[in-house]
Amino acid sequence: MQIPFNKPFLTGKEVKYLQEAVYVYTHISGNGFFTKQCHQFFENNYGFKKTLLTTSCTDALEMSALLMDIQPGDEVIVPSFTFVSTALAYVRQGANIVFADSRVDHPGIDEDEIESLITNRTKAIVVVHYAGVACDMDKIMGIARQYNLFVVEDAAQAIDSYYKGRPIGGIGHFGTFSFHETKNLQCGEGGLLIINDEKYTKRAEIIWEKGTNRAEFFRGEVNKYGWVDVGSSFLPSELNAAFLYAQLEQLEAIQQKRKNIWYAYFNALKILEEKKLVKLPYIPNYAANNAHMFYIVCNNYEERTALIKYLKEKGIMAVFHYLPLHKSSFYSKLYGKETLTKAEKYSDEILRLPFFHDLRPEEVEYITDIIKQFYL
Ligand SMILES: *Cc1c(COP(=O)(O)O)cnc(C)c1O
Repeated sequence: MQIPFNKPFLTGKEVKYLQEAVYVYTHISGNGFFTKQCHQFFENNYGFKKTLLTTSCTDALEMSALLMDIQPGDEVIVPSFTFVSTALAYVRQGANIVFADSRVDHPGIDEDEIESLITNRTKAIVVVHYAGVACDMDKIMGIARQYNLFVVEDAAQAIDSYYKGRPIGGIGHFGTFSFHETKNLQCGEGGLLIINDEKYTKRAEIIWEKGTNRAEFFRGEVNKYGWVDVGSSFLPSELNAAFLYAQLEQLEAIQQKRKNIWYAYFNALKILEEKKLVKLPYIPNYAANNAHMFYIVCNNYEERTALIKYLKEKGIMAVFHYLPLHKSSFYSKLYGKETLTKAEKYSDEILRLPFFHDLRPEEVEYITDIIKQFYL
């Protein structure tokens, strides 16, 4: 058996909608019928006040940096155990990144460490809901209020996930989703900016459309449009939106399927956790499970390397991530060496197992049997 790590899922309607964009609506640039359908989907289903499709989650994070008016020398607190974009979006505006460590029981940001990282230059806290599992947002929003800071939720992995029943991405000032082909819902490359503080809605539209007030013009609110602010071409073409809409329509079925796979892994591997041989994902009771990924935590780097090799010999592609950002060559050249023990530990020990919509139950059984052979 050969089992890849990821296989992008198609609902079957993607090409039909692409054709509609091209031949029926004859509008392929941004902000047409399908873009509006996507925005409505998110605003109706999750109660988000304002959403804007972007060409990636990275772009949505960059938009948040512009909206927060991040200036050279401003400090932004970011977890080290995350993808590059979480920090990069703010570095591009000249921010100094202050890295936070992971929790002991979960790779997400250690909420209790945030306060000690705040200085009078701190402007924002960016949290990542790793594996779709919510950070403790009450704690984080409380700190932000106390010190008058922005909160951005990098919810790239956290579509259709919840914190105490509230949709993730809708709690901080801004939230961002990713529709990269490795995420639960995908359109190749794509993202979403969620604007939760209405104060920023109008400016977000302008930044989205290359610094122009075109959106207002099309709504008939102004009689001409022009260059009014900074911005970029953050809006995706209708082709991306049409593809994505085909996936959004199937969101419930996709999520149910992924949850079944997640629990199949969890139940099959529980025995290894009971015998204290590996750790399985921990989900605090305030967080929902959106089945973004399934990982195990090995005991050390050498054991994980051996397990990857063992699985590969049996045709199974399992992968690890992230190299903690505080140890990256880009960051350490600028700021020197730093140690964040929990982020480094997760970087050495997390192993992600194949996870995609069409992964069959017998494949999960095969994979988990091999892992049990390795440990038992
Ligand atoms: C995937 C991911 C991103 C980047 O998403 P893109 O859409 O590829 O820009 C950012 N942050 C996290 C946590 C991610 O998992």
